[in-house]
Amino acid sequence: MSRDTRYDVLFEPVRIGPVTARNRFFQVPHCNGMGHRDPTAHAVMRGIKAEGGWAVVCTEEVEIHHTTDVGGYVEGRIWDDADIPAHARLVEQVHEHRSLAGIELVHSGMCAANLWVRTPPLGPSPLPTAGTNPVQARRMSAADIADLRRWHRQAVRRSLQAGYDLVYVYAGHGLTTIQHFLSRRTNDRRDAYGGSLENRARLLREILLDTLEEVDGAAAVACRICVDELVAEAGLERAETEELLGLVGELPDLWDFMVGEWDFDSITSRFAGEGAQEEYVRGLKQLTSKPVVGVGRFTSPDTMVRMIRDGVLDLIGAARPSIADPFLPLKIEQGRFEDIRECIGCNICVTGDALATPIRCTQNPSMGEEWRRGWHPERMRPKTSEAKVLVVGAGPAGLEAAMSLGRRGYEVVLAEQTDDLGGRVAREARLPGLAAWIRVVDYRRGQLERLRNVELALGSPLTAGEILSYDFDHVALCTGARWRADGVGRWHTRPLVLADLQVITPDDLLGGARPAGARVVLYDDDHYYLGGVLAELLAGEGYELTLVTPEPRVSEWTVNTMEQHRIQRRLLELGVTVLASHALIGTCAAGARIACTYTEREQEFPCETLVLVTARLPLDGLADELTDVVVAGGGGPTVRLVGDAWSPGTIAAAVWEGRRYAEELDEPPSSRDQPDFLREVVALSSDG
Ligand code: ADP
Ligand code: SF4
Repeated sequence: MSRDTRYDVLFEPVRIGPVTARNRFFQVPHCNGMGHRDPTAHAVMRGIKAEGGWAVVCTEEVEIHHTTDVGGYVEGRIWDDADIPAHARLVEQVHEHRSLAGIELVHSGMCAANLWVRTPPLGPSPLPTAGTNPVQARRMSAADIADLRRWHRQAVRRSLQAGYDLVYVYAGHGLTTIQHFLSRRTNDRRDAYGGSLENRARLLREILLDTLEEVDGAAAVACRICVDELVAEAGLERAETEELLGLVGELPDLWDFMVGEWDFDSITSRFAGEGAQEEYVRGLKQLTSKPVVGVGRFTSPDTMVRMIRDGVLDLIGAARPSIADPFLPLKIEQGRFEDIRECIGCNICVTGDALATPIRCTQNPSMGEEWRRGWHPERMRPKTSEAKVLVVGAGPAGLEAAMSLGRRGYEVVLAEQTDDLGGRVAREARLPGLAAWIRVVDYRRGQLERLRNVELALGSPLTAGEILSYDFDHVALCTGARWRADGVGRWHTRPLVLADLQVITPDDLLGGARPAGARVVLYDDDHYYLGGVLAELLAGEGYELTLVTPEPRVSEWTVNTMEQHRIQRRLLELGVTVLASHALIGTCAAGARIACTYTEREQEFPCETLVLVTARLPLDGLADELTDVVVAGGGGPTVRLVGDAWSPGTIAAAVWEGRRYAEELDEPPSSRDQPDFLREVVALSSDG
């Protein structure tokens, strides 16, 4: 297929100072939980983005000096020359596909507690560092400012040595010393670096000029800047940004505009749609002659074209869309729109940063596995036998397994007991704010329809007997899990006695059941999104809802997807009563019995219905039946549980398991005693 002329504009080259991007697709810097710890894994992941058509591929933030240490987070480092080879490897991967490699240099200042290096962090003002670490930044003296400028220059020099084509001066996300100087919120100085905007922008101007001088035309200089901090207290806002562009708008070769902090820049689809930043960025491009890049979880080529035609952006920036589909540009270029794996806006990718583990993605199970397992987002090894495979259950695990097996060329039957594909995703995507999640099903449905060797058998509830009556060599049981109705979860590991009260589970609610009375207690001992979403659903339907959770906040784990504060706010606005740090301990005539998790003080809570969002049990009965028969009779197909039926987890985990099943079929069993993936081990110092 060839390109639709409507999208030609997206494939025009764009000049960025001394370099030229071959099209308008720009992978902006994004964290990945691999950084300096897993350099080859990181490099290969970026190389695959270049292969997929991103004209510019950037690193995540890269610390320029050891006095800017973000501790537990694994970012990039270019502290000294020892870090150059890792960067050179990344650049090489990106260059192999004719793309430009960019590096985002950062001095995190008051955002880095420096727990590793132990020296006090630096900032414009003596303020506490971000988070709750008992650490304050030290106000930078003139000598400190001179140091910072020198460190930045040194990092630029090393970046050039590594071969980067584009070097960032970073003043965004509230994460950098340059932004801390810019913002009235964090800069209370009375010297030449404080007060007026011109003074607050002095450090930015100096570092931009230093960087331009240092690169001396050998690389482009980009400036990533927060155009509106979105804070009630006086911070950077649109009017000041406009003024700032009057001061330094012509200095860098490229402007990268972002809005708010990271939680807004990468807002989940539950709280905003595609292009949420547009209203803040629109009009700024007209204040500079330099090209502009910006993000907006862009997955629609029409929206991308509109961004260019309307003069909002020159380059289509993307982090998440490039994670969900590293081949997005190539697919648009080749007119393969139905092959686009659209980001669902769930922010599982972001959790890799917060939890310092390699990035993962709900839609793209190969993300983070490119090097260590050799997985590719588009290609799979051809099959190595004529085996026939039955996949039972068409939830995310079954869909991914069937699709990936089909890609490898196996004859596959995907049997699903209901009349619909998608399993839990099809049901959950109907909940408030989760509509975009249906893309997990839509993408795979589209792919499966075009795989002639995969047969779909909907409305087929299979029994063990039926499965064995067919002639399959392998059976993947992707039959899912069910929510428990006995209170067992994290807090209680033994069932509770729950009498005299209607008890319902998420499965009941997703199946259409509703509370019998008006007063509902939802007990969330799961702590991810579902408890909060179901509370939102029921409160929206008029139930008088109390959310009880042993954690101090609702949907506690969603701090890792950067949406906990939005979830709690939404529930409070809907009138939900939140009883945090409390656990359900039983029932009484009036309703629920709950206790404070600290004092164990009990109270009776009047309600007619209890909704339990606690733990799940795998639906793995078929496996036992099949194994019994196969073992008793000898021979028969291999049987494996996959996804939630193996162990209940996230949708991302189920998709990953489905892919893994397909990758490993017909492979010799991996050693259970050794890691079954590659890793890099730190080289020992000779000074030991
Ligand atoms: P996962 O997240 O692991 O993919 P889901 O619960 O989303 O699990 O999906 C499991 C799917 O398996 C559901 O669509 C369910 O209807 C289907 N299923 C369960 N048991 C059978 C069975 N015996 N035969 C066919 N389909 C089944
Ligand atoms: Fe998008 Fe979710 Fe993948 Fe992140 S994890 S790129 S938000 S689909």
